[in-house]
Amino acid sequence: MAQQSRTAVVVGGGIGGLAAAIGLRRAGWSVTVLERAAVPREVGAGWSFAPNALRAADALGVGDAFRAVSVPTEAGATLRAPDGRHLMRFRPGRDTPLLANHRAEVHRALLDRLPDDVVRHGAEVTGVERTGRGVTAVYGDRRVTADVLIGADGIRSAVRGALWSGPPSPVYQRIRCWRGVTGPDAVWPVAGFQTWGRGARFGAHPLPGHRVFWFLTVRAEHPGVRYDDDLAEVRRHVGDWHDPIPALVTATPPGSVLCHDIHDLDPLGSYVDGRVALLGDAAHPMTPFLAQGACQALEDAATLAAVLDGAGDVPAALASYDRARRPRSQRVQRMARQDPRTSLSTGAVAYGVLTRVTRLAGTRVAARKAARLWSWVP
Ligand SMILES: Cc1cc2nc3c(=O)[nH]c(=O)nc-3n(C[C@H](O)[C@H](O)[C@H](O)COP(=O)(O)OP(=O)(O)OC[C@H]3O[C@@H](n4cnc5c(N)ncnc54)[C@H](O)[C@@H]3O)c2cc1C
Repeated sequence: MAQQSRTAVVVGGGIGGLAAAIGLRRAGWSVTVLERAAVPREVGAGWSFAPNALRAADALGVGDAFRAVSVPTEAGATLRAPDGRHLMRFRPGRDTPLLANHRAEVHRALLDRLPDDVVRHGAEVTGVERTGRGVTAVYGDRRVTADVLIGADGIRSAVRGALWSGPPSPVYQRIRCWRGVTGPDAVWPVAGFQTWGRGARFGAHPLPGHRVFWFLTVRAEHPGVRYDDDLAEVRRHVGDWHDPIPALVTATPPGSVLCHDIHDLDPLGSYVDGRVALLGDAAHPMTPFLAQGACQALEDAATLAAVLDGAGDVPAALASYDRARRPRSQRVQRMARQDPRTSLSTGAVAYGVLTRVTRLAGTRVAARKAARLWSWVP
């Protein structure tokens, strides 16, 4: 029997695609990444990574590179009300800090692990074709054929659109989100916290270089609304909330604020079609309420590299990837859809119940819930 060639094409060079490329190269595959953006990502805001993401990153050999661009944040277990009262307090030595970092710096750390010729920028994939023994990605007037194709092209995946029946469309979750990063030393130190108001939730994480990443999520019935002055809109929601929230907003360069409508996807029946697998947001986009989207993409990448390591039968290996990843990631996706239904309640009664239950349940209950989410091992 002819020796199986081991070539992979990854569509999308976000965190999921780059992590998959690194994992596949470690498993002996020759990899090409096709990324739509003309240049590597230099913008973006912050992220927090939970222990499951770090375990996946370690399995991929990039854990130390992540740690080098991250700082601990207490935002997973410090919850406050808009007037500053604590609903829950981080307990040093007992609660797990998350790691916070800047997207562009994580992205750079991953790119640095790949030889220059692996990632082709300015390569927007518009079609996917099955060939006799492989699968072909089409971009512009060029094509790349490989033994396996990984669709890591995000929530509006062209790979999913080309091969999955339906195709399923993103579902608007009636949530708008702003994100910003302060200038260095403008507001410092900040330990990381979240503040829950009625129909609005603010969070902040420290970042390396004495910067602070913050986000605000609010209920918003209709997608597509945009603002002349995003910071003014953020202030309208949280301008009178506790310190240092107003100062964080003021310390953010106006042009750098990001505003997005939040969509997810109904669960897919499969992440795999023959020699094609979906990964990350292409497979299971989720609301950011559990801060798990990128963490799940890293779990996907580590699992994919493990099943394809030494695999003779690519479709069988991908089928085992689907069996391993779909139940877990779709459970997280469901929880992330469910969470804002209570935590982003606009009604006074629902908000009162939420804050009371949160205070009574306390950090121990929250830690048990988080442990279930974070206990994944490669
Ligand atoms: C407000 C917000 C806050 C979040 N906070 C967190 C957090 O704290 N922790 C966490 O773990 N997750 C978080 N997430 C989720 C996280 O951002 C995503 O889950 C993660 O970025 C998914 O990575 P990905 O590589 O799958 O997709 P993406 O990051 O979307 O990358 C897809 C890549 O594919 C490229 N691409 C798209 N189409 C094509 C094409 N046709 N051809 C070639 N290239 C293409 C894109 O340019 C992009 O580079 C948050 C999300 C949001 C919206």
